[in-house]
Amino acid sequence: MTQSIYRGRFAPSPTGELHFGTLLAAVGSYLQARSHQGEWLMRIEDVDTTRCVPGAADALLRALDGFGFEWQGEVVYQSQRTELYESALDNLSKKNLIYPCTCSRKQLANEDNLSLPVYAGHCRHHHLPLAEEHALRVRVEDRTISFEDQIMGQNRQQLASECGDFVIKRKDGLFAYQLAVVVDDAQQGVTEVVRGVDLLNSTPRQIYLQQQLGYVQPNYLHLPLLIDLQGHKLGKSTGAAALNLSQPVLHLHSVLVLLGQQPPAELTRDSLSQLWLWAIEHWNIENIPKQNQFIKHQ
Ligand code: GLU
Ligand code: ZN
Repeated sequence: MTQSIYRGRFAPSPTGELHFGTLLAAVGSYLQARSHQGEWLMRIEDVDTTRCVPGAADALLRALDGFGFEWQGEVVYQSQRTELYESALDNLSKKNLIYPCTCSRKQLANEDNLSLPVYAGHCRHHHLPLAEEHALRVRVEDRTISFEDQIMGQNRQQLASECGDFVIKRKDGLFAYQLAVVVDDAQQGVTEVVRGVDLLNSTPRQIYLQQQLGYVQPNYLHLPLLIDLQGHKLGKSTGAAALNLSQPVLHLHSVLVLLGQQPPAELTRDSLSQLWLWAIEHWNIENIPKQNQFIKHQ
């Protein structure tokens, strides 16, 4: 596998049915890949088994298939990749970057008064052995991580003061999203990550892990979110209804409008394959709005 080919991915968490916000992220990452004649991989992010809903992964895949998405290769499930995460953890541990954290929820809650909670490093110098029953944190360095996002522009984060040492394996034994996503993107040879802007804040932590693990850094493109009229991110937790799959062309047309692609109105009467042909040919990231988009519940 060479790095010269564009390889994108879509990585939904199976925590509910497909809703409009998820569809927008899927469309953005798919059109980026297709317009680069690239590959588009599908990964089910079920690493946090406590949040997964039985049957949701299959339902999501069926829905995406119904919208006409085509992914390459087998679907990858994070719940089956623990060995890969274990071996990345070993590598970090050999570099003396990992330590157990015995802080209680209450202790941590006191640090939780900022939008991104900063861990003050309480357990950093305790030199406890790595034991099963504790959360594991990775030490961050006192330096700024910067990266250029293709839509949101230049970003900087000082990990030490804005985030602190972060958890990569939880107290309950599950690997944290931050580690799993970095290992998977590298292992699958993903060259560009396209996802919602709610994850922009996580990107510096992921870049830090890539650097420590010696991985190639992918490009990043963070899409605006859909916000309901109450100002919440559109998602399962805000009661966004699952999409009605009987009108895929209409929904995709609305997504293209929200992504600033100005699809002609006649496309709503076309077939699914004609809609995709138009969308791939006219895809232009310059037109994607930087601001989150307000919509009514669908
Ligand atoms: N699994 C994450 C979600 O559904 C997306 C992670 C990513 O794209 O990096 O929000
Ligand atoms: Zn601690």
